[in-house]
Amino acid sequence: MSLMSEDAGLRLMHVHAHPDDESSKGAASTAMYVAQGVDVHVVTCTGGERGSVLNPNMDRPEVLENITEIRRAEMEAAREILGVTQDWLGFVDSGWPEGDPKPPLPEGCFGLVDVEVGAEPLVRLIRSFKPHVMTTYDENGGYPHPDHIMCHKISMEAFEAAADPTRYPDAGEPWQVLKLYYQHGFNRPKAVALHEAALELGIESVFGERLKEWKPDPAWDARVTTKVPCAEYFPVRDRALIAHATQIDPDGFFFQIPMDLQQRVWPTEDFELVKSFVESSLPEDDLFAGIR
Ligand SMILES: [Zn+2]
Repeated sequence: MSLMSEDAGLRLMHVHAHPDDESSKGAASTAMYVAQGVDVHVVTCTGGERGSVLNPNMDRPEVLENITEIRRAEMEAAREILGVTQDWLGFVDSGWPEGDPKPPLPEGCFGLVDVEVGAEPLVRLIRSFKPHVMTTYDENGGYPHPDHIMCHKISMEAFEAAADPTRYPDAGEPWQVLKLYYQHGFNRPKAVALHEAALELGIESVFGERLKEWKPDPAWDARVTTKVPCAEYFPVRDRALIAHATQIDPDGFFFQIPMDLQQRVWPTEDFELVKSFVESSLPEDDLFAGIR
């Protein structure tokens, strides 16, 4: 049986906070699953309206003035490259609060919505797309952006509620997602492995400074249950990332790591299985283990 026929009918939903998160987290495994015939749907909670321009080549007044439209167009390009479908939940970016003490979040932003209000459109999308597997961020948001933390909260609420006919009765027929994962793409063991491999080859490591402040946390690292081999698709991930031109500097740190080194030293994307209604033995190498 070919992969196509085996995997036809499998559906995967990724819930992300901003346009570009779908390309920086789990994008190579996304491209791999799409190539296998899996339907992958990305849900983007906010429009990224308060993101800064992080690519010096794009840091121009006319870009800032039209940032919402530009980020939409960037998302469209990334969507094409990854081969996914996508919906916007329509919430407004909270921005990254800067200062000490941090200023209050702007009125009406995603970080301030009631969890039930935020979850309602997501429940609706789960019930219509009917994913077998869903991914989101851990309880700390993967990194503590208020939109990432809210993305976690509404995902947990929607995962539970979508299957419950008494909850959100106007948002479609109940659907039980079979597995829920957290993204663990930026883990310390991976940074250490890439750092050490770079030094061995006499290449300057981009991780040196970061690792000085990044304390080992074996209990956290042990939460990874699932390592999906997808190195062949790292170049697709990079193309999708570069499509988010306002957010990604193509000369930036991420692209300094030689591709063959990444593919050899850390050929997986990593996830934590947090809820499951099927049997699979851990560790896994496939988000659909126990479902196929
Ligand atoms: Zn984000």
